[in-house]
Amino acid sequence: MALFGTNGVRGTANEYITPEMAVNVARSLGTYMGSKGTVAIGSDTRISGQMLKSAAIAGALSMGLSVIDVGMAPTPSIQYYVRDFADAGIVITASHNPREDNGIKLIAGDGSEFPRDGERDIEKIYFSGEYSPVSWEKTGDFKTDPGVNEYYLRNVIRSVDTEAIRKRRFRVVVDTGCGAGALTLPFLLKELGCEVLTLGAQVDGTFPWRNPEPTPDALTELSELVKKTGADFGAAHDGDADRIVFMDENGAFVNEEVLLSMMAKYVLEQKKGPVVTPVSSSQRMADVAAEAGVELHWTAVGSINVARKMMEIDAVFGGEGNGGLIFPEHQYCRDGAMACAKLLEIMVGGKKLSELTKTVPEYFNAKTKVPVGDLQATLEKVKAEVAGSGVKMDTIDGVKLYYEDGWVLIRPSGTEPIFRIFAEAKTEARAEELMNRGLELVRKAEES
Ligand code: MG
Repeated sequence: MALFGTNGVRGTANEYITPEMAVNVARSLGTYMGSKGTVAIGSDTRISGQMLKSAAIAGALSMGLSVIDVGMAPTPSIQYYVRDFADAGIVITASHNPREDNGIKLIAGDGSEFPRDGERDIEKIYFSGEYSPVSWEKTGDFKTDPGVNEYYLRNVIRSVDTEAIRKRRFRVVVDTGCGAGALTLPFLLKELGCEVLTLGAQVDGTFPWRNPEPTPDALTELSELVKKTGADFGAAHDGDADRIVFMDENGAFVNEEVLLSMMAKYVLEQKKGPVVTPVSSSQRMADVAAEAGVELHWTAVGSINVARKMMEIDAVFGGEGNGGLIFPEHQYCRDGAMACAKLLEIMVGGKKLSELTKTVPEYFNAKTKVPVGDLQATLEKVKAEVAGSGVKMDTIDGVKLYYEDGWVLIRPSGTEPIFRIFAEAKTEARAEELMNRGLELVRKAEES
């Protein structure tokens, strides 16, 4: 049985994600850790955060782990803290999920997301229900540390050219959506000498301002305010601020694939080395890497896969096409605030954000999803069908087919009985055509 999906376990708070679950996940982690070590536990701004965090703390203490309660903080802030002060972390967060959800995410001792095999071991303990609680005198120590966000921001600031950024006195509008980023992003920008205007900057787990997912249609006010105030750009986080998206000075949403490759291009101008991205990412990344003469490594979808590969090959940059960017000089995880600081550093060069987005090649994307009865069997049939056709194929995650002028990726969802189909090409029409080709392959395989 699986408990953890691509990003921990998530669901409706107090229905699926219950205090009992939080206690038992923490107990399972304690058993996995041999009842030794320190775990940092924190939450995002969701209403059920305190309830679930308290339960996780109780579970960890009952197993003899020492606990540091780091309070309310963005996920990357807690990850940074774990890296330096703890042996593991538990983050109570449902990231960009709807208001009613919450979730539990485990962090490894190096601050990266918990490795898959470790999660599988913890799942086994969880479903067996066999914990080995310690005797009364060995229950864990407890302390709080309110300094987690300050410590994190100090290190973000240290990772960029602070002096150069401060001199420019950028004007930035931020929409932190009442999520955990409200505790860090406005303060980071102020420290970097920016004039900061905020939207949704009070922490509020009812999310009265907008959905935690920073989609363009949820950010119309941000776009308007950027235009009205003549700001250099707008920035918005998801609920736990590991991701960030931007609006250019004209209030136009910056495509996250463009953002990813633009950042890669900038990093590669400063420092040469391999870069990493999932197979679902744009060809733009391949173009940027080729132009810089460096290697690009494709991974399975999931930021953990990107981060682990980056560590393995000592990559200079990596990330996903959803606003999740990883800067290894700071830490091996998606980090929204760090991405914003880097963007400011790029803009010191004098180019406006709308100009920067035009420095990477243009592509068009098309995507759809299709329900399928048996994902694995259908996937195997698709592979067999393609194998004889002479089309170049990649099977890192699902099936990716390369054509001369584009690609299509057919990928089974990790959480639903559907295939997701992504296509990319130099024209919109061709992207649609490739998407339909993928769809056709799946339908044919299912019928055969
Ligand atoms: Mg997130």
